[in-house]
Amino acid sequence: MDCNTEHPLAYHLNCTRCGGLLEIKYDLERLSAFASPDTNRTGVWRYAAWMPIHQPEHFISLGEQPTPLIPAPRLGAAIGIPRLWIKFEGGLPTGTVKDRSSQTATAAAKQFGFEVIGVVSTGNAASSIATYATRAGLRGAVFCYTKTTQAKMAHIVGVSSDAIWYDGSYDDMISVFDAAVDKEWIFDGGATRNPYKQEGKKTVALEVFEQLGRRAPDTMVYPVGMGETLLASQRAWSTLKAMSLVKNVPRPISAQSNEANTIATAWTSGENLQPKSIGYTIAEGTAVGDMGRKGLLTLRRIREQNGAAGCVSDDEILSMQQTIASLEGLWVGPTGTVPVAVAARLAKDHVIDKNDETVCVVTETGLKGDWAPSHVEAEKPSLHMIERMLEHGRKT
Ligand SMILES: *Cc1c(COP(=O)(O)O)cnc(C)c1O
Repeated sequence: MDCNTEHPLAYHLNCTRCGGLLEIKYDLERLSAFASPDTNRTGVWRYAAWMPIHQPEHFISLGEQPTPLIPAPRLGAAIGIPRLWIKFEGGLPTGTVKDRSSQTATAAAKQFGFEVIGVVSTGNAASSIATYATRAGLRGAVFCYTKTTQAKMAHIVGVSSDAIWYDGSYDDMISVFDAAVDKEWIFDGGATRNPYKQEGKKTVALEVFEQLGRRAPDTMVYPVGMGETLLASQRAWSTLKAMSLVKNVPRPISAQSNEANTIATAWTSGENLQPKSIGYTIAEGTAVGDMGRKGLLTLRRIREQNGAAGCVSDDEILSMQQTIASLEGLWVGPTGTVPVAVAARLAKDHVIDKNDETVCVVTETGLKGDWAPSHVEAEKPSLHMIERMLEHGRKT
């Protein structure tokens, strides 16, 4: 990307000249097939012309449907953004946005003749890559850390052919994993450099475009881990603009937790991105302290596209999880809650205008977490308890 060298479509992870990130180029004329997306296919493959995968036998699928784009008027009024939408990714097969990129990653592994695809994961990537590997008849070699939730561990054990639990940090594991990838033992299903994988996440924008009646919102708010969702979706919006299908590219807003807030810090100070050594955050999907080159690119896109960035504490995340559930009936995992909590904060600070039509990409279901049970007291069934409940409307 940085040195403008072009490579034919083949298995490359980095530029062979400068070592930089690769970005896949498409023929805009081919994309104009978008005027009539492939209505026989659903999910990512509805937009197959936008993906670097050519043979339909590699279109790995579990029958994904477009995820809902839900108007959220009560939540919007509460956080000061009345025209708020939630793009809810919780209904994908493994309950997170990662399924979009896992589909293109496993399809690319097949296309390039690999038998094993792997990933180093804090929880969601492992079950997602393993799910689609299994579906594709590949081995899914997933390297997982044990601080994830019991629900996620059970899921990983169920769907993966080869799971390894590592002792140490993500950074310790990733250097070993990258060495195995360099030997071509394993197709890289990770987010650090693989240019094929993130392509699936362009469909977040393509679906929103169709769901809004073929136009763009003012603002899109994304949780940021490695920045793939923001980068891929904003690229799709830029392409739609280049094709004159939308009038504007939405402002990208990066949402992180305070613990892993490298983009927010750089954006606020106007300085360069500084990697950070991070501890625990409940928003596991954002727990990346060193985004590497993808971080630089994320910050560049935010600056180029008039975006913004913000961060919130774990307490704000947990409180917003309850607010979303009680006002809109959506049960969202902590990482998926981050964009809403950050949108609330930025609306208060007037960084997001109250009139902006804003889409929060809510990336995960809350059903993958282990939550401490609320304190409840059981009582003997009686009509009286129903009368009391109806009268006081009290949550029991
Ligand atoms: C991994 C993950 C993210 C972060 O996505 P990036 O595209 O790497 O920035 C967001 N939400 C959830 C639920 C995730 O699992």
